[in-house]
Amino acid sequence: MLLGDSVKNIKGVGEKSAKLLEKLDINTVHDLITHFPRDYEVFSMPERIDDAKEGETITIEGMISRLTAKAGRKHLVTCFCSDPSGAIKLKWFNQPYMTKLLKPGTRYLFRGTVKSDGAEYFIQQPKLYGRDEYRSLMASLQPRYDLTKGLTHNFILKAARTVLENVDFEETLPAKFRKENNLMKYEDALQSIHFPDSMEDALLARRRLVFDEFVEFFTALHALKEGRSEEKNGYPVTDYTDCDRLLLELPFKLTGAQLKVFEDVKRDMSSEKLMCRMIEGDVGSGKTIMAMLAMLAAVRAGYQAALMVPTEVLATQHYNEFCERLASYNIRCRLLVGSMTASEKKKAYAEIKAGECDIIIGTHALIQDKLEFAALGLAVIDEQHRFGVKQRECLKNKGLKPHILCMSATPIPRSLSLILYGDMDLSVIDEMPAERLPIKNCIIDSASRMTAVNFLRKEVAAGHQAYCICPMVEESEMMDGENVIDYSETLSETLDTIEEMDSKLKVNRRIVVEYLHGKMTPSAKNEVMERFASGKTDILVSTTVVEVGVNVKNATVMLIENSERFGLAQLHQLRGRVGRGKWQSYCIFVKGKSGKEIDERLGILRDNNNGFKVAEEDLKLRGPGDLFGVRQAGELSWKLADIYSDAALLALAKDYCHENEI
Ligand code: ADP
Ligand code: MG
Repeated sequence: MLLGDSVKNIKGVGEKSAKLLEKLDINTVHDLITHFPRDYEVFSMPERIDDAKEGETITIEGMISRLTAKAGRKHLVTCFCSDPSGAIKLKWFNQPYMTKLLKPGTRYLFRGTVKSDGAEYFIQQPKLYGRDEYRSLMASLQPRYDLTKGLTHNFILKAARTVLENVDFEETLPAKFRKENNLMKYEDALQSIHFPDSMEDALLARRRLVFDEFVEFFTALHALKEGRSEEKNGYPVTDYTDCDRLLLELPFKLTGAQLKVFEDVKRDMSSEKLMCRMIEGDVGSGKTIMAMLAMLAAVRAGYQAALMVPTEVLATQHYNEFCERLASYNIRCRLLVGSMTASEKKKAYAEIKAGECDIIIGTHALIQDKLEFAALGLAVIDEQHRFGVKQRECLKNKGLKPHILCMSATPIPRSLSLILYGDMDLSVIDEMPAERLPIKNCIIDSASRMTAVNFLRKEVAAGHQAYCICPMVEESEMMDGENVIDYSETLSETLDTIEEMDSKLKVNRRIVVEYLHGKMTPSAKNEVMERFASGKTDILVSTTVVEVGVNVKNATVMLIENSERFGLAQLHQLRGRVGRGKWQSYCIFVKGKSGKEIDERLGILRDNNNGFKVAEEDLKLRGPGDLFGVRQAGELSWKLADIYSDAALLALAKDYCHENEI
């Protein structure tokens, strides 16, 4: 079996499961074995029943009594479980066979999440274990994977086991180096991340895999800038007259920080050497206009300029903005995205090759083997890290040596930026547009959701729009899609209508709620986004797809459900979707769970609107145990690595790459 083989080559994976795996972007054997657990379930010693706290998952051991069954729309079985400390109610929906399984007066082990109906605690759908069965689970860590409906953790585990038994994994690191730096063998790391003996074992495995992720990152960056700093500038740009004109036409003045960055860019593009610059700036600091100015100047100098972004939604949004702002400049813009039909693409490719368009905006898919530019002078890469190794090499292999301008919104301390992008020139936009009011933040628990919903209605009645980031589904985060639909229906019913003036007549109109999730087709996503951007939709219910770069100034509320389940960096990104216009904006963090740690973490966001500060505080709070569990997405996201808590490994990987000339 080879890593590049289809998952169907794995024994036990058939046509049907391959389809399901595909939903998780798992297509090859390599994808499967690098589908790492997002967390481990620890089967702890049974706890005292009176220690049960809402939202916690616990195991209890006790005697059951008062077993009842009620048939109805939903079949309900209930009973009480008691130990010397107290008793708690257990509930099972649509599992009538539980009445046969359970014998009152007998002791059992149950495990489940504690909920509350206001009056009393109960455990819903607890799992039932035999003593021996539970004891054997206690000795191990059970990996939890991102799943989709129809797949189980066990299925993934079994497939991973088969892969580990049948594939020879190449070791890239010398034994000496591994030993000196406490890095496992690659194969052992894969084994231990899926089948850890202990948490330490899992963390050690993670250490090795994170190291590899960083090495890959540097390799890719290297491919991008290889030789660039010595390369003579084949695309000099010296005339910026039209940029000055554009600046006068903008509805705002550039901030001091933006002006400084623009000066850096001008200096680079007119100098002897090619530009290779990274612009770092917090969400909403105004990076897009920097790209537009540089691209406009490059086009005026007679070259083509391309803007590459990670998602179609973002590509379309940028394209619309460019078309609008540059309408009177006689510039031909072209959108190029994966969802275009083959013939549309062919036409676009032909135009680009013939030099019939000047500005090309597209997803990273833009850099396809088939694409040839007439004269690419500038490539701008938004969300640089999401731009894969293959695509970078493609740019290189085409023999293209344009100016490169990267943009990233990851708020990282300067010391880390230097490690990450040290070989590029770095510009930082460290100032927000002046007209912005700081976002007002608040944290509520789910019991106060109605207040939040009323607030949404008020903002919509005032002509604004809102985002709701939907809770993730416990068992499988990938079932988000279905969840988003349910949530938006419920929200729509609750919100109902608002009064509006329609040509001096008071009318009731329904609040328009739409949803967006990752599994929708790109064109469906674009349509939803466009309706939201144009104000036709009042509220957009979404998974974290909106996290990246989306810009709708009129949106003033961001409501995030289950906010405790996200990493702070990602929450900060999400919050960055509002507060982009001149109106007061709000971010409401809804907690699905309570706890001191959760309050502390979310408190950081409530008290800080500055991304750098958030990152710094977040790091202080985090311990090694938090390395799994919280989704550390944000903009700089690897499968496992986290630049903040893995900063030391990042530096190690960098040194390794330097020494070995990778
Ligand atoms: P990001 O840095 O997150 O990519 P954008 O470039 O999308 O941010 O800018 C966010 C919004 O702020 C856009 O609507 C943009 O037009 C606006 N903007 C950019 N620069 C300024 C400025 N100097 N003053 C006011 N608004 C600005
Ligand atoms: Mg942006």
